[in-house]
Amino acid sequence: MKKQALFPGIRKPESGRSTGSGLARLLPIFCIVLLLAGCGYGTADMAERTEETVSQGEDVTKRTEWEIVIPDDNYRNYYEIFVSSFYDSDGDGTGDLNGVAQKLDYIQDMGFTGIWLMPVMPSPTYHKYDVTDYCAVDERYGTTEDFRRLAEDCRERNIRLIIDMPINHTSSEHPWFQAACEYLAGLAAGEEITGETCPYAEYYHFSREQENENYYPVTGTEWYYEGVFWSGMPDLNLKNEAVRGELEKAASFWIELGAEGFRMDAVMHYEENDTAFNTEVLRWLYDYCLQQNPDFYMVSEVWAGEKTIADYYGSGTPSLFNFDLADAEGKLIKAARGKYSAESLADAMLLYQEDFSAQNSGWIDAPFLTNHDMGRTANALISDENDVKMAGGLLLTMGGSPFVYYGEEIGMRSKGTKDENKRLSMYWSDTDEMGQTLDPPGADEGIGSAFGSVEEQLLDETSILNYYRRALRLRNENPEIARGTAEKVEALCNEQQAVILKTWEDSSIAIVYNISDEEAEIDLKEGGLEEREIRGNLTLNGEEIVRMQDVLCMPGQSVCILK
Ligand code: CA
Repeated sequence: MKKQALFPGIRKPESGRSTGSGLARLLPIFCIVLLLAGCGYGTADMAERTEETVSQGEDVTKRTEWEIVIPDDNYRNYYEIFVSSFYDSDGDGTGDLNGVAQKLDYIQDMGFTGIWLMPVMPSPTYHKYDVTDYCAVDERYGTTEDFRRLAEDCRERNIRLIIDMPINHTSSEHPWFQAACEYLAGLAAGEEITGETCPYAEYYHFSREQENENYYPVTGTEWYYEGVFWSGMPDLNLKNEAVRGELEKAASFWIELGAEGFRMDAVMHYEENDTAFNTEVLRWLYDYCLQQNPDFYMVSEVWAGEKTIADYYGSGTPSLFNFDLADAEGKLIKAARGKYSAESLADAMLLYQEDFSAQNSGWIDAPFLTNHDMGRTANALISDENDVKMAGGLLLTMGGSPFVYYGEEIGMRSKGTKDENKRLSMYWSDTDEMGQTLDPPGADEGIGSAFGSVEEQLLDETSILNYYRRALRLRNENPEIARGTAEKVEALCNEQQAVILKTWEDSSIAIVYNISDEEAEIDLKEGGLEEREIRGNLTLNGEEIVRMQDVLCMPGQSVCILK
């Protein structure tokens, strides 16, 4: 296992940049005094950890690095990639699979242990959520062999690669739909559909009535078809056995190529408002995939409130995206900007645990801040760098498998509600055009970024990127964060601070949050935590968290791990 320095090869922060309060600057000195005095840090784990001295201006700060062992399970830190906007390997302006492969060093170095690729199958649209062939790679993205190589590279790095599986609908250009429409055009007036003559006519929802506003006319016929999202996306009939057979074939195709999980798109729309049917569909496909890979992962999009998400855990599939936490008005971003209390966030964690585990004891929460359908975190937090970091810190100390949308780690911006503006090209560099993709067609120009490029932020240890890196490292160093059973330390929870105990196997940690902008002093004795030692911390700009006797001194917007 490779041990990494916290800020390897990284220069000092620019002078003149605010790095926190007077107390925060003095804290490292207290820290050293305490170390010399033999109190504060314990010695039990000293043998396991390496220490290095990092010079930060006048301060001398002790940093602790722990060995990282990623358990071979489905608790992962996922990075969501829109391939088209990520990294272009061949200079045509469209990101591609080889481009993702070329950025695996970056992804791995950040601390991600999983990748979700948005749809990679052939499609007439830029976003590719309307598929024309479930068993192929879109030629703009590369070939099946490119995918196989990418999957192998990921596996060698212990990164789980999962792909988007949009099965609610196909493209209206899918050969199945085209064949069905051709067949319908040949039917005599009043003649009924027979599956024997054209099985594809039963792959979709055709009707002589325009049953609701989601039905569109089949050109040149008296028939209509269902297309819940738009006319270019006819809904598949997932009750049809032949459709299921086709999708099983697709699942096998991708598993054979090396995909280790699926992200299930638009699950609530398989049949509108039919949770029993929709969970059955998930269960069927998941079971099928498990037969081929016992570690297969599945995470599903049910864009709904907490209770509905809990119902979908009844499918027995491992993960549902936690929409209760996400988006500008979700609990994480609200807490980061001080509009949601730390204690309420702790209560939410316990509520998820209670409600989700009641439906599936093997549940893995899938928290996230934003995805490709939402405005960026930087927009929701009006580009307040500290709040953007805090939102990331809250996300990356949640249980389960957090998902980070590409570009969030540098605080990229979006604009308005137009989807294209939420899927802009990754901002790698101002000076090096290598790999740079074009924005999606139709995106507004000049949206820009409130913060620097990846290249710049890599060099600035106080950047958002390096904050994410520290947070991911903290998460990888402490497997209890993702996997532990949560308990609230009632006595230490209030508006501004919260403490959650996480117990996993025979180990337990306490996660201490100070979400306010102000320093906080937390009396560990009050929470029965005085026997624990500081195991790690996450602060905005590298400020230290210090323990003085039984009091933990935390700078504003910081997180501390006690063990
Ligand atoms: Ca390309």
